[in-house]
Parts: sequence; C-alpha cells; structure tokens
Amino acid sequence: MKICVIGNPNSGKTTLFNALTGLSARTGNWPGVTVSKKSGFYKYNNEKIEIVDLPGIYSLRPYSPEEIVSRDVIMTQDIDVIIDIVDTTQIERSLYLTTQILETSIPTVIALNFNDEIIKKGITVDSQYLEKLLKVKVCPISALRKDGIKELMDNVVLAATLPREPLFTVKDDSINPLINYACDLLIKENNKNALFDALKLIEDDEYEISHHKETYELINEEKRLNYQNINYADYSEIIADKRYEFITNHMDKIIVKNDSLHKESKSLKIDKILTHKWLGLPIFLLIMLAIFHLTFSADFLFLGVFIKGRLDNPIFAADTEGINSIGVILSNLMNMLLDFIGNALASWLSNAPQWVSSLVVDGIWTGIGTVLSFIPPILCLFAFLTVLEDTGYMARGAFILDRAFKGLGLSGKSFMPLLMCFGCAVPGIMNTKTLENRREKRLTIFLAPFFSCGAKLAIWTAFAGAVWASHADLFVFGIYLFGIIAAILSSLFLKFINPKRETSPFIMELPEYRRPSLINVSKALWQRLKDYLIRAATIIAAVIIVIWFLSTFNFRFQMVEINESMLGIISKYLSYIFVPVGFGMGQNGGLFIISTLTGILAKELVPATMDTLAGLSSSGGDFASLIKTMGGIEGIANYASIFAFLAYNLLTFPCVAAISTARAELGKKDFIKAVIFWLSSSYIMAFLLYWGIRFWFVGIIFVAILGGLFTFLALRYKNKTKEVPSYVG
Ligand code: GDP
Ligand code: MG
Repeated sequence: MKICVIGNPNSGKTTLFNALTGLSARTGNWPGVTVSKKSGFYKYNNEKIEIVDLPGIYSLRPYSPEEIVSRDVIMTQDIDVIIDIVDTTQIERSLYLTTQILETSIPTVIALNFNDEIIKKGITVDSQYLEKLLKVKVCPISALRKDGIKELMDNVVLAATLPREPLFTVKDDSINPLINYACDLLIKENNKNALFDALKLIEDDEYEISHHKETYELINEEKRLNYQNINYADYSEIIADKRYEFITNHMDKIIVKNDSLHKESKSLKIDKILTHKWLGLPIFLLIMLAIFHLTFSADFLFLGVFIKGRLDNPIFAADTEGINSIGVILSNLMNMLLDFIGNALASWLSNAPQWVSSLVVDGIWTGIGTVLSFIPPILCLFAFLTVLEDTGYMARGAFILDRAFKGLGLSGKSFMPLLMCFGCAVPGIMNTKTLENRREKRLTIFLAPFFSCGAKLAIWTAFAGAVWASHADLFVFGIYLFGIIAAILSSLFLKFINPKRETSPFIMELPEYRRPSLINVSKALWQRLKDYLIRAATIIAAVIIVIWFLSTFNFRFQMVEINESMLGIISKYLSYIFVPVGFGMGQNGGLFIISTLTGILAKELVPATMDTLAGLSSSGGDFASLIKTMGGIEGIANYASIFAFLAYNLLTFPCVAAISTARAELGKKDFIKAVIFWLSSSYIMAFLLYWGIRFWFVGIIFVAILGGLFTFLALRYKNKTKEVPSYVG
C-alpha cells in the first residue's frame, strides 16, 4: 500500500512524515524545505505502508517545480490513499487545495493539523460538519505532538478499501453544462479521474492537454460554439472563484469559536489596560494598596469625615473616626474572644500558686493570644491575594514587575517565585528550581526574605497598631514596598560587584482571566489557617514557655525581675551588637534582641515574645508601651529605632523552615554566602535607616546621592540589556 502526504507549504507534512516513518527528514517553519519527494515506511499491524512526503503546494495546477513533482506523483503513480494535510490555522487557504484533490477519485483522508495550536486559541474545527461537506474522513491531529496519528492511520487503511466519488464544488450555471459535457467525453474514455481531468482541460492545463489532445479539441469546439460570452482566459478564473466560494460559504459552520475565544478576547481587552505600558505598574500598586486598605484601615473608604463622632461601636467603628474595614472588624471580634478567654483563665487561676498563673496567663496565654490575634488580618490579606491569583492577575503582576524592573538587575523568571514569597518563603524558594540560570537562582533565594511573608505580617500588624493605628493600611503597605525596593537596590549592588550575571528573558503565557473559584480560595485559606494554628500550638507555645522560664528565673532558679533573669543578663550583652542600629539601647534593649532571635524559629514569635516580655517587665505592661522605650530616648530617636527594627526583621534571616529549604537548594558554598548576605544587608539597611531618620537632614542628602548613583547604574545596565520580547500570550 502506498500513501502520500499533500498539503500547503509549512502545513506540517514533513513533521507528519517523520512521525509516521520514524525518519528524520528536515522540517522547518518556512516554505520550501521539502522540494523533492521522500518516502519511508509505516508499520500497520505487520503491514508495511509506504509513505511519500511531497513538497508543499497551494494548487494542483503545475506552475512551480514543487507543484509538478506533487502532481506527477498523484496522477501517475498508483497512490492508494492521499493524506491531505490541512493547516487549521490557515484553514481557508488550505481547503482550496483540498477542493482540487477531492475532484479526483483517489481515496483521501483529511488531517487537520496544528490541532494543539487552535485549541490554545480557543477555536475548534467542526470536523463532523467537514466530513459531511467533503464526504471524506477528517481527523484532527497534531503532527508535532504525535496526537491523533493512530486514528488517522486507521482511517487511511479503511479509506483504501472504499471507492470514493469525486467532489464537485464548481457550481456555476454558466459553465456547468460545459463541465458535464467534458466529463461525459472522458468517462467514455474510461478515465478514472473524469471530473478532475475535465476541469483541468477546461482550464487549459498543459499537462492534461498533452494526454487528452482529442478531447481537448472537442471541448474547445464546444466553448467556441456555445460559450461565446465567456472569454478564454476567464474559465480558470471562474473555476477558481467557485472553489473559493464553496469554502467561504461554509466557513462559519466549519470554524467554531468556543466561549474561551470570547474570554480570550475579553482577556486581551482587559490586558490592554491592566498591563498597559505606563498604567500597568500604578494600577498594580493601587490594587495592592486597596487590599491593604480593606484589611487594615479603620477608616473604610475615608467615610470618617461624614460620620465623625456619630457612630460609636466597639466592633464597627471603635474610635468613632470612621468605619472599620473588613479586616479590622474581624480583628475586633477576635480580640473580644481572646479577652474573654484570657479573663476566664485569670479568674480560674486566681487561687493557684503565683508561678502557675504567671506561666499560664502572663506566659503561654499572652504569647499564644498575641499570635492568634493576627489571624484575621493575615487570612483577610490572603483571601484577597488568593482571589487575585485565581483570576489570573498575579501572573500579570509578575509580568508588570519584570517589565518595570528589567535592567535593574532583578528580572526575568525570578518574579514568580518572589511573588510566591509574599505567602511563604518555603514554596517560593522551592520554586526557584524552575530557574536554569544558576546565578539567577542564587540571587532569587538571596532576595526571598525581602518579600515579606505571611508570618512577618504579624510583626507589621502589631507595630501598625502601636505606632500608627490610624493609617495602618499605609504603614503595612509601605513595609512591603520597602522590601521590594530593598530587593532592587541589593540586586543592583550585587550586579555592580559581579557584572557577569545575565538574566534570562521572561517568557510566560499569561493565563486567561477567569472568575475566582470559591472552593479554591477557601481551600487555600483553610490550609493557611491550619498551618497557623498548628504552629501556634506547637513551636510558638514551646518557645514562649522557654522564654517565660528564662525571663522569670535567674541563674539560681529564683523568681526575679526580668532584668535580673537569665534572659535579661544574656540579652544585655547581645544588645551591644545592636546599639549601632538603634534598638540595642535603653533598659529594654535586650528584650528586642531576644524577640528578633526567637523570630528565627517562627516570625510570629517576634511580636508574641515582645508581648510576653512586656507583661513580665516592671516598666512596661503592654506591647505599645514597651516599644515606646525602644532606642532609649523618646521622640525621633524612638521612631528611628522602631523603623530600623522593622527593616532589620524584614531583611534578615527567614525562619528555620525557609533557611533549611534554601540550604537544600543552594548547596553549602552558596548557602554560606546567603547567610552572610542576609546578615549584612539587614544590618546595613537598619543602620542607614536609623541614622538617616535621626539626622533626617543628612539622611535626605544621603538618599539623594544614593538615588542618583543607582539611577546612573540602572540606566547603564538598561542600555546594555537588549530588549527581549517578554509577552507571549
Ligand atoms: P512542511 O513544509 O509541510 O513539510 O512543514 P514542516 O513539517 O516542515 O512543519 C513546519 C513547521 O510547523 C515546523 O516548525 C513544525 O515543527 C511545525 N509543526 C508541524 N506540525 C505541527 C503541529 O501539529 N503543531 C505545531 N504546534 N507545530 C507543528
Ligand atoms: Mg516539508
């Protein structure tokens, strides 16, 4: 059995030929790659089927050498079946050739190639409709992916056993009688392909004329006698027109645009705005700001001006200045619950020994209660972020950030793992597996802690409430932004030290926008809540107990004031290291250092430890009053040290879980570098921030100089990096 593959140039004939024969003829995404025929064999149930690969053609009228080769093969050799390969992405043009092939009586099967491509575009070709229309089998395939090949060959083998009627598509009253006349003549000669030959003779096809001289004369005679109104040259034009008309008349039934195409075009429309060159980044930042507003603001939509003083409610409008946003309302409810439990515990233990009530109420409960109180804002923020991710916007976020910061050293594929770090650094760092470029991977892991994770949100929430409660949303948003800016600055700086680093182009397919699924979002939130509760009940509770013990007893195991306790004494020494960055000073300096250290186990421990220690210390009482003592002096120095503390905690080591993930991904040598990087970058940033705020005048000048320097560096790199297409989708 012998079959041949016919189709337009570039329709995948050679790819299919290779897939069938296992040979490796050259393919290429340009026309003219196959100019001569090739043949090979396909094994079908022990039968060897010869496959012939032909050069690409648009028509069966032999104008070019390729067309002559192809035409020659199908007309003179005994071909059992033709596989007509149709490029579905160019279906109209491809089907023009099909109509000519089907004018023969050779058994034919149509292979709708590039099926994978059109699926992506949200188009389907109604192959059943095509089958009815063309009266041959139609098989969707992807030659490249070798999809549908078996079904195609089944149909080919079947088609070989069945006779086929030629398909007549040239329906035109003016010449149909002439075609019938020519067909009749040829049938009388026992011609197998009467319709095909008749049309070719009417078209004055030279190849055909040389084989049917007498019939051609008769047809010409008929033209002269009965078709004076048609010009000689017009016949082939009419025929070609009618073939096209046949296809175009059915196009809207052949191609089915399914919903996702509408969605895609909708996606494209939305993306025109959301990923706009200039608007993209501001919109991204605004959306993020809106999320923080909904989570943290006590003045929802700035309605406070209207309701000032008129609404007083502990849950919805605590300070009568404005309406609480959803995150704050949930927090208030949570705090009421926690207060209730705390009071119940205290009264229940009022008759117990002092150390017991100290351990349970001041120690464990204060610590765990603090951690639990952060659940509402954390879940709220993550609900919004998960919704954004589910709609497909987060992928745009990575794309927008990549475009904005391309050339600033931080670029490419690293944005996806880094955005994941906003949730948790562990999956973010694991995701760097997708980065092939070693340097890029290393840098991404180095910068992972800068993208503030969910647990660190507990620190920011606690400080927001104590430092700037009226604008908690801006406060927390600012910290996130600071992290990103710090990441860009560090990346630029590292690039300055090591200019060899190149970034890989960022090519990602942007998913289509879809409605977020409630199930996805609630699953993600539940997972997060579960993790959080387990951590609170295990590692956090355990650490709090140890902290309580160390800060309640001295080295002789007597109950003492916190400053004389084991922890108080050890931390006093440690605090000297942190005097230059501002928060090692003052009588409580050591406590802040201890909190930072516990943060290595879990970041929620930073505020939890501070709260516990505040309750145990003589001067303090609560978290807010404790941090007023930070830096040792009131006023600007206090704020300077608070911000330095926050910067330090944001940029330093991630928690143990993330550290060990980083160790596994980096290998020993790079891991040591990472540790050095985390230690030094956080210390340096905290140092600059502390002194910059304390001497704000000098600080501003310093920032200006630094800004200028970095702009200069950035522009230099920007010029050096070539523009690479970064948006495929
Ligand atoms: P020919 O000129 O008809 O022989 O076409 P080729 O076999 O050389 O293929 C042209 C190009 O289309 C090559 O780059 C192929 O890799 C690609 N191609 C062929 N079939 C498919 C397919 O089913 N899907 C996709 N995505 N690409 C294909
Ligand atoms: Mg080819």
